[in-house]
Amino acid sequence: MPEPIIQTQGLDFYFKDFKALDQVSLNVPRGSIYGFLGPNGAGKTTTIRVLLDLFHPKRGQVSIFGKELLDHREEILGKVGALIENPSIYKHLSGRQNLEVVRKMVGGKKERVDEVLKIVRLVDNADKKAKNYSLGMCQRLGLAAALLTDPELLILDEPTNGLDPSGIIEMRELILRLNKDHGKTIFLSSHILSEIEKLATDVAIIDQGKILYEGKLEGLKNGGDNLQLSIELDHVDTATHVLEKQGFVILEAYHNGLLLAIKSKQEIAEINQLLVASGVQVYQLSSSQENLEAVFLNLTKKLDQ
Ligand code: ATP
Repeated sequence: MPEPIIQTQGLDFYFKDFKALDQVSLNVPRGSIYGFLGPNGAGKTTTIRVLLDLFHPKRGQVSIFGKELLDHREEILGKVGALIENPSIYKHLSGRQNLEVVRKMVGGKKERVDEVLKIVRLVDNADKKAKNYSLGMCQRLGLAAALLTDPELLILDEPTNGLDPSGIIEMRELILRLNKDHGKTIFLSSHILSEIEKLATDVAIIDQGKILYEGKLEGLKNGGDNLQLSIELDHVDTATHVLEKQGFVILEAYHNGLLLAIKSKQEIAEINQLLVASGVQVYQLSSSQENLEAVFLNLTKKLDQ
């Protein structure tokens, strides 16, 4: 396997006594769109801040482009473009003027402003004041600013947050284009599974500061023996109690049955026995491959038990 473009090992980060990152180890393949997925408060922004050297972990290491971040800060961050939360934009200036301001700070040729405006498809609105931009246009302007130095790696924190459906589609299309046509590796955080599913080649799932999965998107869906078991039965409350006591993960409870996440077919027989022994009437058991939503729920629910 080629050397990852970002590699972290055992990152621990605390806000006072609160452990926000717990042994976070990531391997982001060069050329990938790497989806960093987790519910609100999972630790995505904190991880990104560590990657950009804005937060310093208590333990662990970060290397980017094969070099230690601590020792090669300037060199590394010069080749990384980032968009964290809402980009800072001067509303009284036009899009083009905003980019000029950033270009003067980060350096680069004057023509690059036109190039990035073209990439993010803001040429027609470049001379409009930013106060008249939609949220989607502001996000694209923020991304244009991040592209001024032509970075090899882009780190985007929830880039579609708050956008309307057409803004989401435009941003998605832009991310795909930056990856395919411009060769950028893209590290992308999101709490929306369907977004990551549409874009990412590789994923990591984080919850409560811990990495629960890292690998190919397809591996998450098909690689494990992740199955769903649907059971039709009479006493839903008793069944829920009995199964949860044994550590099974219940995805849904209906008036006449349950939907469970299971790891193997052997568990079906075990569940059946448990229910029958508790006096629950089982009318039907059927298993199917889990969809990604269920895999995600299953992984994140386990932490709460
Ligand atoms: P979101 O999508 O909601 O931003 P996230 O996955 O990016 O979520 P983080 O912002 O990294 O999550 O937060 C991780 C945890 O750290 C959360 O429990 C959050 O409440 C806590 N946290 C974040 N910033 C601070 C801070 N400045 N002081 C104390 N706790 C914080």
